[in-house]
Amino acid sequence: MVNDMILTSVKKVGGDDLFASIIEEIGGENAVKVANALSDKDEATDEEIAEKTEMRLNAVRKVLYRLYENRLASYRRTRDTRTGWFIYFWKLYPEKLRNLIISRKHMVSQRLKERLEYEKGNMIFHCGNGDCEQLTFEGAMDVSFKCPKCSGVLVFVRNDKSIELLENKIEELEEELRNLKF
Ligand SMILES: [Zn+2]
Repeated sequence: MVNDMILTSVKKVGGDDLFASIIEEIGGENAVKVANALSDKDEATDEEIAEKTEMRLNAVRKVLYRLYENRLASYRRTRDTRTGWFIYFWKLYPEKLRNLIISRKHMVSQRLKERLEYEKGNMIFHCGNGDCEQLTFEGAMDVSFKCPKCSGVLVFVRNDKSIELLENKIEELEEELRNLKF
C-alpha cells in the first residue's frame, strides 16, 4: 500500500516523462506543447510556436515568460527593419533542465533512503486492511495490537520485499544520476 504509493510517485518523477512533468508543473499542459515545439529546433519566434502548436499567441507568450522566469528558456531580440517592431527568438536551456532533473532525482532518492531506514529499523505491524496505516512495534503496543481505525488485529508484516524493492529503486536512481552527471 504505502510502497505502491512511493513507487507510483517515483515513476512519475523518475521516468522518461520527467522533462514533460517538470515543464508541466511549471506552466501546465500548454507549456509542454511549447517546450516540445521549441526543442525541435535551435530557436523559434512566438509566432512560429503559436502556428506549430495551434495555440493563441497570448497563451504562447504567457508560457514563454513562465519558462523564462524559471530560467528554462531565454530569448534574443532583433528589430524588424520593415515594421520597426522587436522580434523575439526563443530557445530552451537544456543544461538548466538537466540540473533540475538531477536535483529532483536526488530528492526522490533521499526520500526513498529515509523510507528504507525506517523499514529496516522498525518491525512493521498492520491489520491487513488497505485503508489503514502501518504501525511500528511501539505504536502497535500502545494500542494493544488493535488497529485504531478498524479495530482489526495488528500482525507483524515481513517487510523484506519492501526493503528489496526500495533498494532496487534507489540503486536504479543512483545509476541514472551517475549517468546524468557525466
Ligand atoms: Zn485497520
